[in-house]
Amino acid sequence: MKPLLINGEWVTTSHGMDNVNPSDVSDIVAVYAQAGRAEAESAIAAAAQAAPDWGLTTPQQRHDILHAAGNEILARKAELGALLAREEGKVLPEAIGEVNRAGQIFLFFAGEALRQRGDRIDSVRPGVGIEVTREPVGVVGIIAPWNFPIAIPAWKIAPALCYGNTVVFKPAELVPGCAWALTDILHRAGVPNGALNLVMGPGSVVGQTMLDDPRVDAISFTGSQATGARVAAASLPHMRKIQLEMGGKNPLVVLDDADLEIAVHAALDGAFFSTGQRCTASSRLIVDEGIHDRFVAALADRITALNVGHALSEDTQIGPVVDPTQLAQDEDYIATARAQGGVLRAGGERVRRETEGYFLRPALITETEPLMRINREEVFGPVASVIRVRGYDEALSVANDSEFGLSAGICTTSLKYASDFKRKSQAGMVMVNLPTAGVDYHVPFGGRKSSSYGAREQGSYAAEFFTTVKTAYTCA
Ligand code: NAD
Repeated sequence: MKPLLINGEWVTTSHGMDNVNPSDVSDIVAVYAQAGRAEAESAIAAAAQAAPDWGLTTPQQRHDILHAAGNEILARKAELGALLAREEGKVLPEAIGEVNRAGQIFLFFAGEALRQRGDRIDSVRPGVGIEVTREPVGVVGIIAPWNFPIAIPAWKIAPALCYGNTVVFKPAELVPGCAWALTDILHRAGVPNGALNLVMGPGSVVGQTMLDDPRVDAISFTGSQATGARVAAASLPHMRKIQLEMGGKNPLVVLDDADLEIAVHAALDGAFFSTGQRCTASSRLIVDEGIHDRFVAALADRITALNVGHALSEDTQIGPVVDPTQLAQDEDYIATARAQGGVLRAGGERVRRETEGYFLRPALITETEPLMRINREEVFGPVASVIRVRGYDEALSVANDSEFGLSAGICTTSLKYASDFKRKSQAGMVMVNLPTAGVDYHVPFGGRKSSSYGAREQGSYAAEFFTTVKTAYTCA
């Protein structure tokens, strides 16, 4: 059984959980120890005890650890990518790409540890000087979802450690494998005892213990809106800093003047790659009436030709859905969309392969209206809907008509419309002639409205959440 990491010790528990391969349910990746309330509390205590010393380490010490971890992740990306593909179902090239990204994130934050910023400002009072500096927040609870098993933990843990915080890390139940491997790498890279703790286990027990404990100074959470709301409500009484990254219902607008091939590629990649299980997936395709029929026909052809199958098979383009619950949810959304008048134009059926897995051909639903359930709620699967519009103004208005605001895209050859969309889109990230999913690792990531709450993640903007500002006055 793969153990927890608490205060620098590998700890086994009486209860373990199988990590099941969604491409082949007879394949158990490994068994992972499950923490209960007691283990979670020990991890928090260890992080609290380690916080003062870790916060005072030199930038060089933190740089060296993050740098070593980043290099090991990159050196092992083929092996770790295979592990990721096996436990989550992302196809191998995407899984290796995600591991590569995790390695780059660690190298970026290794550099950030050295690039300290601060201000020296003259006071309005004579003889007084002011310094504005950043300090660690303290103990950071990291609660991660299953869909990016190594990149999301990396983009939370790397800045947390970089800026001198200690960490209690709770990965999603479905993907303990990458979490364990990442923790092992950081532990061997020299993170001191207690500065990084790994507590695998159910959200309702381990996550809830973190929410209830006043020693946790900040929580960085990525997951569903429902859980995000719990994190927020539980944190308010503690006046705790929170950062929430939640769902999306991301629009991709296709105008009449778009390059058809670029638009079809953006929709195919954005909506269906990674089995559509991306918070930034292009799930609402908002298509101008002049290009609508050509676009739908071309996209439907491409969907039908997609190779759906085992994530580790060389020719697979779309891996399995992550588990039976998510598969049932995807099918339920397809059925509801059809019942409300949508037309299932391509895909949407289960696919049988040699191994027993959760295979679903990506679904394209046309003739949908903005107020239908399929256009209001996040499916989080390989399901995209098409809304027909007349011209740019209607497209923009439909794109912004959502409680979410994570990512938004437009396909057009018009500089005028592209510029206007970049300015008026109510999303945290805007793409022109690109899929709504697929972002860089060195720039801010996050959304607006119900998609995100708190400071941005990633890039140098991560300092906003993972540090607290001190203003010091000195009278000479
Ligand atoms: P989820 O909310 O079910 O779980 C997320 C994490 O919260 C898991 O680790 C879970 O164990 C934990 N959790 C559950 N109950 C808890 C509780 N009571 N207290 C504390 N922690 C608890 O989400 P999921 O199904 O793992 O992930 C899918 C969701 O994540 C989708 O909505 C998706 O859009 C979102 N997501 C958002 C982003 C982003 O950056 N915006 C990125 C990836 C995924």
